[in-house]
Amino acid sequence: MVNQTLGIIGGGQLGSMLASAAKKINIRTVIFSDDQDAPGQKFSDDFVFGKYDDENIINEFVEKVDIVTFEFENIPFETLNKINEVKKVLPKPNINKIIQHRLYEKDFINKCNFRTTLYDSIKNDKELKSKTNFVPGIIKTSTFGYDGKGQYKINSVKELEEINLDYNKEYIIEKFINLKKEISVIVTRFGKQKYEIYEPIENIHEDQILKNSKIPAEISNEIIEKSKDWAKYISEELDFIGTLCVEYFIDKKDNLYVNEIAPRVHNSGHLTINSHNISQFENHIRAVCGLNKEETKKLFNAKMINLIGNDILVYRNKKFTSNEFFFDYLKKEVKPKRKMGHLTILKK
Ligand code: ADP
Ligand code: MG
Repeated sequence: MVNQTLGIIGGGQLGSMLASAAKKINIRTVIFSDDQDAPGQKFSDDFVFGKYDDENIINEFVEKVDIVTFEFENIPFETLNKINEVKKVLPKPNINKIIQHRLYEKDFINKCNFRTTLYDSIKNDKELKSKTNFVPGIIKTSTFGYDGKGQYKINSVKELEEINLDYNKEYIIEKFINLKKEISVIVTRFGKQKYEIYEPIENIHEDQILKNSKIPAEISNEIIEKSKDWAKYISEELDFIGTLCVEYFIDKKDNLYVNEIAPRVHNSGHLTINSHNISQFENHIRAVCGLNKEETKKLFNAKMINLIGNDILVYRNKKFTSNEFFFDYLKKEVKPKRKMGHLTILKK
């Protein structure tokens, strides 16, 4: 279809970068956000502000668009479902129902026969205190966590005994893994057995937030192939349309684990804007809008540095060389632990 208008739910940096990628291939975008200051509105053609469960706002948004996608997985399932009755939502809303809940997500990965950390659900204090075999471990809220939010590292049985959780929320506990490396694989699925896949990206986290990403990842060929195969398989099992990211752990014995699945474009893939002929964002737009799949090629090796909190203030006044690309997410407020921008450095 020509002259399509794509609706994007969420107006943070991912929404902004999706809107920029769409503009490049002549697709109009309307961003829908519950944040009046959402930076995405500076990049999209139109903007709708309102609560994600406000039916009038949902209707206003739906009328403006031909097809809908989203920048983050924590949109209420009901909202996506309601929109999907009128305009197609891709990836399909029922995928979110699995992935936005850490327990269902991990159950799904195990059903695919891929390794995850040892995990269990926690619904009350009695269950929590019995999980001594998960120490050292991490407790995570089952829903709405990101960038390490809603996570509690448990280093000892004493800490397990002393922690107080609010049981209005659901949790999982995971055994802690001694990590050798973390990698991610980004795949865009266009249809049955039709993919564009990026090579594994090596990631470094600080305080559970992504700090650096780079290609090529320094890993064995066996892990390169395995991680790509698993990501393809997962996207096929989910009947996913669009860009998806699988985050992996590699332990000291070179075992590969799926950490989590992001049913969307991913922070580790920001470097693809500059390192590849087609970025993860453009491929996502192409897939959900039904455009041609074009061969995606790496042009340069690259490294990405996330600018978190006050980092941005320094970078806003910096001079950059011709192989450095600075992205300012134009967020209104600088907050600690908030992703404010990134820098990609190409290795020419
Ligand atoms: P988020 O949804 O916030 O990204 P993750 O589950 O990916 O949550 O955790 C964030 C980071 O915390 C991981 O990338 C990893 O560095 C660290 N982490 C989380 N779970 C474990 C674990 N079981 N063992 C070791 N490190 C972990
Ligand atoms: Mg993660």
